Parts: sequence; C-alpha cells; structure tokens
Amino acid sequence: YFELNVNPMEAPEAEPTMILTLHDLSEARRVERMRVDFIANASHELRTPLASLLGFVETLQGPARDDTNARVRFLGIMREQAQRMTRLVDDLLSLSRIEQNLHLRPQTPVDMVSIVRHIADTLAPMARDNAVTLNVDVPASLMVEGDRDELLRVVENLVENAIKYGACDQMGENRCVDIGLRPQKRHCVLTVRDYGPGIAPEHLPRLTERFYRVDAGQSRAKGGTGLGLAIVKHIVARHRGRLGIESLPGFGATFSVTLPLQGA
Ligand code: ADP
Repeated sequence: YFELNVNPMEAPEAEPTMILTLHDLSEARRVERMRVDFIANASHELRTPLASLLGFVETLQGPARDDTNARVRFLGIMREQAQRMTRLVDDLLSLSRIEQNLHLRPQTPVDMVSIVRHIADTLAPMARDNAVTLNVDVPASLMVEGDRDELLRVVENLVENAIKYGACDQMGENRCVDIGLRPQKRHCVLTVRDYGPGIAPEHLPRLTERFYRVDAGQSRAKGGTGLGLAIVKHIVARHRGRLGIESLPGFGATFSVTLPLQGA
C-alpha cells in the first residue's frame, strides 16, 4: 500500500514545481492488523471462560440452588475457569512488560546450569505425572548475562511444552525429554528435545505468534494460553539470542536457544 502526497511548491518566479512523496504503508498496515487481531484474540480467550463462569453462577442461583452435589461440582469448574483467566492475564502482562523493555538488555551474571537444574527439579512432579523421564546433560557452569527470572521462564516454558505435547515416542514407550546445555564458540546453547508427534513444517514459522496453536483444543485442555512461545521469543530477543525450532513429524521436536556467553 502506498500513500501518495502531491504538494505544489510556492516558487514565485519559476514555473510551479510539484513534489511527489511516496510512503510505503505495507508494514504499518501489517502491524495495525496484528494489533487488531491480537485484541480480538485476547478478548475471545477471556470471554470463553467468563461466559462459562456466568452460566454456572446463574445455574447456582436458579435451578441448582438447593442441589449440594451440583454446587460442589460447579464450584470446581468455576475455579478452573477463574484459574485459566488468571494464567491468561498473567501471560498478557508478562508479554507487555517484556515488549516494553525489548531495547534494554538485562546484564546480571546468570549461571544457565543452575537455571536448568532448578527447572528440572520444579517440573519433576509434572514429568512423573506424565510418566516422562527428564534427562539433563549440563556442564559444571555456563555464565551468560541476563535476567534470571526471564531465563527461568524460557527454560520452564520449553520443558513444560516438551512434557505436555511431545513426551512420547512413536510406540508410546520410553517417554523422555532431553535437556542439554553446552558452550559453542562464544555462545551457550540450550536444547530441549522430545520424541513425540513433532510439528508439521507449515506450522513452524507461525509457532511463536501470539495465540497460534497447532491444536487449540489440545492446548486449552492442557492449560495452555497460546502465549508461551511468544513470551520465549521476546525474552530471547531481549537477551540478544536466537530461538531455533526443528521438527521431523513423527520423530519429535527440538527447541534451541543460543545466548551470548558472559563477556562475549
Ligand atoms: P500453549 O499455551 O498453547 O502451550 P505455546 O506458545 O507454548 O502455547 O505453544 C504454541 C503451540 O505450539 C502449542 O499449542 C502446540 O500446538 C505447539 N507446540 C509447542 N511445543 C511443542 C512440542 N514440543 N511438540 C509439539 N507441539 C508443540
């Protein structure tokens, strides 16, 4: 899209001159469309649990007023819906905070090994519940400069996704997730690999878009907000790093994060 401005110049003695300015508006239009889509998506995601909550409140005030069993069951569902909205609002706030600070590179020394170990410990119960073994392969220490909480978030998100979506091989046996950390030249490379169904190539370029999911029903059923990888992408960008996603459908997926080592 181009915006065309034609301005006649005031030139008292010479022939009138015209100045033609061309502005490429394609990028501005794309950004505007993304903003509108984002608001529509966020509203829709909030509206669904809200509608469900309202429905249950009305039922409990009306037909199920004296039904003790229904009350217990409905309150459980209402709690889940409220938790879902809380997760969504928390993720939206995180995303906007990170976006606001995108140009500010965090510079506190952080040991990526302690981050990986911490997340492996935190997610051990979830892995156990999903019958998944977490294999952790890390050196003694690997220092980067960054924001510890944000880097914890990156590792947590990738490992959680690997457990949620990918933790089974084709035969449904040997469910495991490999978490690796290694130095490579002046960088630190984190890899999170699963042996699950993987991701078809057409989805890969869009996976880090806000609210993009391969299977929205599956994501919601697993408590996903559709914002995890968008948050990961922004945090990695703020740390001047790179996010890589590789997958061979049927053989699993590997997510890698490359960050500059401290002092690099
Ligand atoms: P969600 O909250 O839905 O998990 P994410 O942004 O973290 O949102 O992930 C986006 C989508 O990418 C997920 O809904 C899922 O379809 C897909 N995905 C992420 N990680 C994996 C994985 N390890 N294996 C297969 N699909 C994955």
